[in-house]
Amino acid sequence: MSYRIETECLQGGYQPGNGDPRVLPIYQSTTYKYDSAEHLGDLFDLKAAGHMYTRISNPTVEMVENKIASLEGGVGAMCTSSGQAASLMAVLNITSAGQNFISLSTIYGGTTNLFAVTMKRMGIEVRFATPDMTDEEVEALIDGNTRLVFGETIANPALNVLDIERYAALAHRHGLPLVVDNTFATPILCRPFEFGADIVTHSTTKYMDGHATVVGGVIVDSGNFDWAASDKYPELTTPDESYHGVVYTEQFGKAAYITKARVQLMRDLGSTPQPLAAFILNLGLETLALRMERHCSNAEAVAKYLEANDKVSWVNCPALPSSDQHELAQKYLPKGCCGVISFGVKGGREAAVRFMNSLKLAAVVVHVADARTCVLHPASTTHRQLTDEQLVAGGITPDLIRLSVGIENVEDIIADIEQALANV
Ligand SMILES: *Cc1c(COP(=O)(O)O)cnc(C)c1O
Repeated sequence: MSYRIETECLQGGYQPGNGDPRVLPIYQSTTYKYDSAEHLGDLFDLKAAGHMYTRISNPTVEMVENKIASLEGGVGAMCTSSGQAASLMAVLNITSAGQNFISLSTIYGGTTNLFAVTMKRMGIEVRFATPDMTDEEVEALIDGNTRLVFGETIANPALNVLDIERYAALAHRHGLPLVVDNTFATPILCRPFEFGADIVTHSTTKYMDGHATVVGGVIVDSGNFDWAASDKYPELTTPDESYHGVVYTEQFGKAAYITKARVQLMRDLGSTPQPLAAFILNLGLETLALRMERHCSNAEAVAKYLEANDKVSWVNCPALPSSDQHELAQKYLPKGCCGVISFGVKGGREAAVRFMNSLKLAAVVVHVADARTCVLHPASTTHRQLTDEQLVAGGITPDLIRLSVGIENVEDIIADIEQALANV
């Protein structure tokens, strides 16, 4: 039986049987018991399905993974200990030293560091494409060693909306998958697979948890990409010696990518979420649809208020008709553009800092997408490791204030902004 997404948020993943606990149980166990050594041997050879060891899989985590896979409309999902681990593994699963991949430049600062600094040291080269590049200019970055194209549905913090159909078509023309970080949109506002994306990642730390309680990530596989159709992905289409020669595309079909990510990468790298973390994430997922609705309507109201205020130099909210992202937002985000907006205060960097120090309800925190309103100055915090060129390429100006509008009463949020603007 398949339900609508609001219902899946609550009912997906775990269906208790007669007399079972009503709420998702926490299986706080590292290990599992078997009736025979042969059965365990079959598990190790990937001939039987089942749990071996919690570094690789766990029943509580698995039920949350199944819920997220169903929310995104994918064939399988793998939770990770953080969004960073999800981004790393999503790329590493199909990219090796000596190869490269294309990423939009408008992405989360932590992902920029991961791709441009740490992965470079692993011998993997990222080639950044700016959103204003034509298809021809992006395609000029692709060569025989390119393995994927990466972007964010709603860029953090530039708030560019990814033209998913365009980049999916571009990637597919070259036999490459499109990997989309769907953290800000969540499957409530956008389901990238419906527009041709092949793999989705999330920092579940943000809206999915939604209460700023637990760091986590997830990778979701659409099952749509035909790995065997090209000779680019031998790690999926030729024998894996670490499993006595299993060929993922042959044995696991549509779930080849996500199965390899788990049984090989998660086994070897061990960025596993704890069962308790998955339980807490699940509590957040239960109210995700309801919260996103309020985040979107509150953010739009705050953006309209800011746009009408003469102390504000500019407002960026893709939901506003004045935004250059509005057309893309109407196509990909018809239900709203999440709670994150950005704006500049007249007076530049100093005015921005004075405004932030005057806020009472909105808290200055290194976080975003929390149920509580929070605010951040990326140029002096999350993005301070980036060069000025990287800042500009990421769509960040020195006066940019990122406001993550929460689900409080919107009148209280606006009143707080009003009194802080009065101090500028
Ligand atoms: C926060 C964030 C990440 C990193 O996630 P963590 O859970 O903090 O490791 C990745 N992508 C986006 C878009 C983010 O906002």
